Amino acid sequence: MAADEEVNISIERLSADLRELGDIGRGEDGGLYRMAFTAADMEGKAWLEAKMKEAGLETSRDGACNVIGRMEGEESDLPILVIGSHIDTVPCAGILDGTLGVLSGLECLRALHAAGKKPKRSIELIAFSDEEGRFGGMIGSQSFAGQVTPDLIHHASDLDGIKLSDAMNEHGLDVWQTLQARRDPATLGAYLELHIEQGPVLSEMQEQVGVVEVITGLFKWSVTLSGEPNHAGTTPMGMRRDAFMGVADFAHELPRLIDENGSDKSRATIGRVELMPGSPNTVPGEARFSIDVRDTDETVMIELSTALKKALVAIARRRGLHFNYDVESWIHPVDCDPELVEQVDLAAKDSGVRYRRMESGAAHDAQIIAKVCPVVMIFVPSKDGKSHSPAEWTAYDDIEAGAKVMLKSIERLAF
Ligand SMILES: [Zn+2]
Repeated sequence: MAADEEVNISIERLSADLRELGDIGRGEDGGLYRMAFTAADMEGKAWLEAKMKEAGLETSRDGACNVIGRMEGEESDLPILVIGSHIDTVPCAGILDGTLGVLSGLECLRALHAAGKKPKRSIELIAFSDEEGRFGGMIGSQSFAGQVTPDLIHHASDLDGIKLSDAMNEHGLDVWQTLQARRDPATLGAYLELHIEQGPVLSEMQEQVGVVEVITGLFKWSVTLSGEPNHAGTTPMGMRRDAFMGVADFAHELPRLIDENGSDKSRATIGRVELMPGSPNTVPGEARFSIDVRDTDETVMIELSTALKKALVAIARRRGLHFNYDVESWIHPVDCDPELVEQVDLAAKDSGVRYRRMESGAAHDAQIIAKVCPVVMIFVPSKDGKSHSPAEWTAYDDIEAGAKVMLKSIERLAF
């Protein structure tokens, strides 16, 4: 094949791979159960490794059991291009979350290899372990970025109390080896991740590809409003300290708080409310609820957290309640590298696909890797915005468009 001949991805090969891996860990309800370090996850890793070998990549696993396929570049001392995502799933998942990024990367490298192309800088395709946070973090990318500590290793366990060390041990893996997976940031040139959007924006806008400029930050609080439990019949309305009414007031104020203190990127969600004692004929004396707030700008996040606190204090005073809250997490927003964004934008233009620049509302491995290396992400539309469900889907045309943009991006970044 001539050196300047155009390389093309094959949507047939890519969709066959998606179907094959999509059969590993399938439950009776049709959902995927390939949670990190389960037998299904390990079977998926082995399948991927075999596919990488077939595609001409040199395979290995690091201490965090991240599966790596390497294409050697002409200049081995140049910082490498990493293409990454994950193949672990939440329980009852669809077949695309994470997996599409890994298999699109595989298809791109397979096409390049088959065409006899050799990149200038080496390329590594990596499936990171436990992106879905079975053990409370993103163990694979965190290990890679040098963020794992003995303390984290010691405490990491899943919702059933199974320790990470035991889950790894079951497959002959030593959790302490995760400390060995750290890469020297100087050897990392760029990180590229393709992912389904997991939201409705691209499909609503009828675009095929999103070039991600920023990954949203978020904070989660667990809030308690305490009043007084009392008889639903004998306590007059004006003499109640009803904790639920406090939650209702607060929920009602959220849109205004976002309008006044947030941006058009702000989101706030009360996803869980528990009322105590939780009896139909008792005024609730205590309400515990979660609030999840997101924005792409940390200053806005700080302003929102102040405004939310003030609103809760005022509501508590008005309703005769006590207010308490715990910060469960604070995740910083991450900017994609402007130069990489520009390159992917040009790749999208070259590919002739319909695309737009956008933000990511969900967390990804890229957010962790950004600490040690410039990152960029490519999104493809999620049908009806659905994800973390067997209904998760992206039209093949759009998958093909995304993979094409990935291939052109790789050619721009590594050749
Ligand atoms: Zn994912």
